[in-house]
This record gives sequence, C-alpha cells and structure tokens, in this order.
Amino acid sequence: MSTITGRTRGGDEWIPQFVSFLDPRKCIGCGRCYKVCPRNVLDLVERSEELLADSDEDADDDEMMVMTIANASDCIGCGSCGRVCPKNCYTYSAAET
Ligand code: SF4
Ligand code: SF4
Repeated sequence: MSTITGRTRGGDEWIPQFVSFLDPRKCIGCGRCYKVCPRNVLDLVERSEELLADSDEDADDDEMMVMTIANASDCIGCGSCGRVCPKNCYTYSAAET
C-alpha cells in the first residue's frame, strides 16, 4: 500500500485529500458543494425519516434534502466542496492504493 500523491505544475509533490465523510446532520442541502465539484461525486437526495427525526431545527423545504457522497471513487481531492460549505460538513483524508 502506498499513499496517492500528485504533482503541482511546478513539480512539487502534494498529497491530495479526498472526501471521506459528509456529515448529514450538519448539511442544510444548499447545493453549493454540488455546483463547484468538477467530478461526478455528489448527489442531492431526500433526507431520510431517521435524519429528520434527529434534526434539532425545524426542517424547511431545503432541509428536506441532504447532500451525499454518491461516487467517492471519482473524487480528485480538490477540496472545493469544503471551501464553499457553510456548515463545515466535510472530512477529508489521503488515500492508499
Ligand atoms: S474534493 Fe473536489 S472532486 Fe472531491 S467531492 Fe469535493 S469538489 Fe468534488
Ligand atoms: S455545501 Fe455543505 S451544507 Fe451545502 S449541500 Fe453541500 S454539504 Fe450540505
């Protein structure tokens, strides 16, 4: 097993941090992350009854939806989703091959 690494345009090594978790209890379903993701990783889906029951806040229409990691293997580790997320939902980690 070895850590997946990349190179900058200048040739320096860097370690991509790939999406590893999206906290459904923090997500408000705003869609910001979906708009900026350059790959087919994320999908907005209906919030499950279980999550609705756990929610502390009254759910309005937007909060009926939640972002999910639908295709984690397509992530390139750009970090854009976390940069635009207003609720700090994302966790990242390096990956092994
Ligand atoms: S890190 Fe980049 S490629 Fe991966 S899910 Fe986020 S925006 Fe998409
Ligand atoms: S940007 Fe954050 S709060 Fe908005 S849909 Fe994505 S994960 Fe959820």
